[in-house]
Amino acid sequence: MDQMVTQAEVRDRVRAFAQEADLLLDAKTILGEGPYWHAEQQKLYYVDIAGEMFCRFDPITMQNEQFLVGKTVGAVVCDASDSDVVIVSTRDGFERYHMGTGTLTLLADPEADLLGNRFNDGKCDSKGRFFAGTMQHVEADVTGSLYVLDTDGQCRKLVDDVGVSNGIAWSLDEKQMYYIDSMKQTVTAFDYDVANGTLSNPQIIIDFHKEDGFPDGMTIDSEGMLWIAHWDGWQVSRWDPRTGTKLGAVYVPVAKASSCAFGGDDLMTLYITTASIGTSPSALALQPHAGGIFTYHPCVKGTTTNPYRRAVSKGESAS
Ligand code: CA
Repeated sequence: MDQMVTQAEVRDRVRAFAQEADLLLDAKTILGEGPYWHAEQQKLYYVDIAGEMFCRFDPITMQNEQFLVGKTVGAVVCDASDSDVVIVSTRDGFERYHMGTGTLTLLADPEADLLGNRFNDGKCDSKGRFFAGTMQHVEADVTGSLYVLDTDGQCRKLVDDVGVSNGIAWSLDEKQMYYIDSMKQTVTAFDYDVANGTLSNPQIIIDFHKEDGFPDGMTIDSEGMLWIAHWDGWQVSRWDPRTGTKLGAVYVPVAKASSCAFGGDDLMTLYITTASIGTSPSALALQPHAGGIFTYHPCVKGTTTNPYRRAVSKGESAS
């Protein structure tokens, strides 16, 4: 990924929208990603992939707890049945992490034979299935795939020939799943069968080749519009997935805007993660809060984040 635009270029373009994100937490992540709003806890979870950790942040008290996993963590989702447990997509696969003990338990390792790959972004659907994809660590070849960890613990491959697996969102009627491959600079819409968790009929709906940077993490608002973070593009943009039209953008004072999710008690806050990785010292001097968590308050409500819902078989307790 060598497409780099300058801060001034993008700021002038995005300034037309007169929207700018504010620094919330100078988290100093290397590769901040995967914001996840926990509505009951009113806390924001996010990962630092290269920092090999995930964090739990309370925007009221500003307490930021770090959980060191000791290997890359592409995404974190909460477990609906146990508030001490999260499911993470690590370098090695889908794993269960206990926040009280720090214990990591492997659930599925679908790419045991692909040592150059790691898991990246992921998200749960409304039924609690955990979707997460992979990428080559050096981002040279198209060796990634998209997988799903079903609620019964089985893992299935859904898409192959993926470059850099990234943002995922579902349409409000759950009849479509939107999916970003950052290397291909595309947003693809699949027909989604929510009863079975299957994808079909892929259609490219947004082509990022003329945009600033690369499409990265993504969420959807209550009007069914997509919010996409621009890696090396200094912004988060809003899109109509039905027409492929860019509706607006929010300037982020960090080149590597990585992902976004709605949160807050009214789902009116857009939390934006950023990264400092691969940024030269001279470039970092112009973006002192690279790696921070930013917020933006759009005039539209967001959608909730789903936890993983492990199915409990007969005779087994939910604990
Ligand atoms: Ca990402």
